[in-house]
Amino acid sequence: MTSPAPARIPATLIAGDGIGPEIMDATLAALDALGSPFEWESAVAGLGGVTAAGDPLPPATLDSIRRTRLALKGPLETPVGGGYRSSNVRLREEFKLYANLRPARSLVPGGRFENIDLVLVRENNEGLYMGYEHYIPIDGDPHAVAMATGVNTRKGSRNILSFAFEHALRTGRKKITVVHKANIMKALTGIFLETAWQMYEEKYKGRIEMNDVIVDACAMKLVMNPWQFDMLVTTNLFGDILSDEIAGLVGGLGMAPGGNIGEHAAIFEAVHGSAPDIAGKGIANPIALMLAAAMMLDHVNRQDLATRLRKAIDQTLNADQIRTGDLGGKANTKEFIAGAVSRIRNG
Ligand code: NAD
Repeated sequence: MTSPAPARIPATLIAGDGIGPEIMDATLAALDALGSPFEWESAVAGLGGVTAAGDPLPPATLDSIRRTRLALKGPLETPVGGGYRSSNVRLREEFKLYANLRPARSLVPGGRFENIDLVLVRENNEGLYMGYEHYIPIDGDPHAVAMATGVNTRKGSRNILSFAFEHALRTGRKKITVVHKANIMKALTGIFLETAWQMYEEKYKGRIEMNDVIVDACAMKLVMNPWQFDMLVTTNLFGDILSDEIAGLVGGLGMAPGGNIGEHAAIFEAVHGSAPDIAGKGIANPIALMLAAAMMLDHVNRQDLATRLRKAIDQTLNADQIRTGDLGGKANTKEFIAGAVSRIRNG
């Protein structure tokens, strides 16, 4: 008797705009070679959503993610004009994707920094990005005063900190650094820092190391000696800035994956945009989306497949020296993916 095939994991697939379909095809080829556990439901969003359904985030796409609770997403363009809100922001709100996970790992030697392996966890829904902003007109100047209100809650802080601690323990991280500005924004970021230390004392002391650092000092330390950090956890605005800074340490956004994880869904993506300047030319680098797929495999506890995928990318880049133009190489997308698939099959 043969054993039953393992259950497939339903997941939503959004190829996205611009180079999205090219890098998604490449990523799917790598996943197929690995023996992907996912059962894909294709959906559209961004410009593709407007063209197909008159909405950058059509109800059918939202329904699909509601069902599968899991998605792999290419870059989305927000159409200019027409009053459309960013689909990425709407997805974060709709599915309460409160955790943004941004790993940064050196892939190509010879950059400014070697052997970087950092993870940043950013709170995605609260803080100064809630859009509570207004102007006060004075003396005929409608914009005489601009005001913004940030909101951080105990519950929101606990959610993101708990996600960070648990992720750190599960993935073998040794130290968490809490990034804040509680010396100046005593309430807004003080609540985050206070909650972090409370939770550490309650549940995590002795299991992992924790320290805290003020955001401006953190930004400097990251470029002076990034190896002193292991995992960073911070509030929305600081996380937005520092996650791009750590991507810069390993060569920029071109190879940066991200995960947006919440109560109702987890969506994995390449951090870069739709690269309209090279769309359709077949020369895009698919690595960021492939690494996002590796994060998605980790998320569904298929670390075995995630590790094989990351290893194949490393071997293709470094042992085989197959690199796309953005990395100084001559390979096109198809040549890179052919190399990676061969490494997956034979590696
Ligand atoms: P971009 O990231 O698309 O492009 C910046 C530069 O990087 C371009 O020169 C591009 O060719 C290059 N580049 C990006 N990805 C690459 C890849 N995989 N391989 C090789 N080169 C690559 O940023 P942009 O031009 O500011 O934005 C273009 C569109 O993408 C905009 O509509 C923007 O709103 C959207 N965008 C979407 C997301 C997302 O969905 N996550 C993120 C950022 C931007």
